Amino acid sequence: MSGGDMAKPLLGHRSVEGEQSVAPAAGRTVGVLGSGDFARSLAIRLVCSGFKVVVGSRNPKRKAGLFPSAAEVTFQAEAVKKTDVIFVAVFREHYSTLCDLADVLAGKILVDVSNNTEINHHRESNAEYLASLFPACTVVKGFNVISAWTLQSGARDGNKQVLICSNNQEAKRIVAEIAQVMGFTPVDMGCMSSACEIENIPLRLLPAWRIPIFLALGLFLCFFTYNLVRQVIHPYIREQKNKFYKIPIEVVNTTLPCVAYVMLSLVYLPGVLAASSQLYYGTKYRRFPDWLDQWLQHRKQIGLLSFFFAALHAVYSLCLPLRRSHRYQLIETAVKQAVEKKMNIWVEEEVWRMEIYISVGIIALGLLSLLAITSLPSIANSLNWREFSFIQSTLGFLALVISTLHTLTYGWSRAFDENQYKFYLPPTFTLTLLVPCTVILAKVVFSLPCVHQRLLRIRRGWEKGRYVKFVLPSATGDYSSGETSSNV
Ligand code: NAP
Repeated sequence: MSGGDMAKPLLGHRSVEGEQSVAPAAGRTVGVLGSGDFARSLAIRLVCSGFKVVVGSRNPKRKAGLFPSAAEVTFQAEAVKKTDVIFVAVFREHYSTLCDLADVLAGKILVDVSNNTEINHHRESNAEYLASLFPACTVVKGFNVISAWTLQSGARDGNKQVLICSNNQEAKRIVAEIAQVMGFTPVDMGCMSSACEIENIPLRLLPAWRIPIFLALGLFLCFFTYNLVRQVIHPYIREQKNKFYKIPIEVVNTTLPCVAYVMLSLVYLPGVLAASSQLYYGTKYRRFPDWLDQWLQHRKQIGLLSFFFAALHAVYSLCLPLRRSHRYQLIETAVKQAVEKKMNIWVEEEVWRMEIYISVGIIALGLLSLLAITSLPSIANSLNWREFSFIQSTLGFLALVISTLHTLTYGWSRAFDENQYKFYLPPTFTLTLLVPCTVILAKVVFSLPCVHQRLLRIRRGWEKGRYVKFVLPSATGDYSSGETSSNV
């Protein structure tokens, strides 16, 4: 951040709807204990946001030059005396060294910004530990999910949410105000017992992606082995032909679309299972089993991985003609034809198959790109529910149908050619068709008017076997009673 940038506040002191008390927070003196990376970035950001900052260091003379001139750098005890809100930018291991300050800290708000190196590292959270060391202080957990880099680059460029928890509402409100003035979005996470959860957040590695990634890797491994056996091991054993050069590109490139295609069908399969369950039990109020719930929640990640594998397949396919092996094969074929004096090698059916197959593949990739883009939060937020559901559900299903056409035109009549059965193993594309075709078939069945109507009724709350008594006004003015299901 340039000196010029630092001199002026990054954000105006705007008041957020419903939060009238934001503006007074700016101008307040805020203390920071510690002079490391986090303390420095925090001080810069606080100064830029219009706060007076006082930094408490064990060695203020040496550290003063690291901070903006507007921030006062002094000894810890001096700093603490000058403010009521103090950010403790010190590692947990060093909290006990602050105990000498207990008297001057009494009655003040301590903001614990610390993180751990492992999930659930300690029995109690760092914030609870700090509170136990300073019982006369009010501890607020917060800002730990924001990195020093985000603090420096400003809320314009990085995570904007600051998760806050404390047992004291007033202290929490003051810290939330400070976060707001700094341009962050405070998120109230409740009382201090949430501190452990907040401290674990920065340590989690792609929690929502773990299952989809394992699924994709598992599928990749299965299909890769299958293709390896068919394309490399079989010719080696049966004809003593060395086809190992195929492993890095050809085998990988036949594996990638299999994974992409099956993963895409796995985005829509849980919806089919959920609809089947609702039809079978005649209610939408029965809980799905946990595994189905989890599966439904991971559809976005599975879809994005499907797109990733499809994109890789497109790039690999474009590179196929660049290979030296491909050039040798072309020359070899040309020489053979010259020797056999073959002039016309044009096979009309093959030409059409290839044209359709590639064109359909490009359309499928285009649709998958659209699905991937619209699943990004910034884009998804700009769509209303109908638009989002049209793209993700209708166009997504269309992508599955077109991918099936791509697979079928690729396979053409190979499923019926016995030479394609290596070690009695059918061509890979026939295996990949199983799940997607089941999904497409199920969707066709669900779109039949009788099934579709029943499903719609169930989704609007109708339940099988649940009747409500109602009274019909008769033409003659008296009332006849009847029984019918609630939502008919
Ligand atoms: P750091 O660069 O190592 O700074 C730690 C500071 O603690 C030192 O500069 C030191 O300042 C002070 N300190 C006080 N008592 C100490 C003692 N007995 N021994 C050693 N140092 C002592 O660490 P940091 O990256 O700024 O992290 C500080 C806290 O912020 C940690 O709890 C960390 O988990 C949290 N945090 C950091 C980031 C980040 O991006 N860096 C992000 C989120 C949370 P003096 O020498 O001036 O006293």
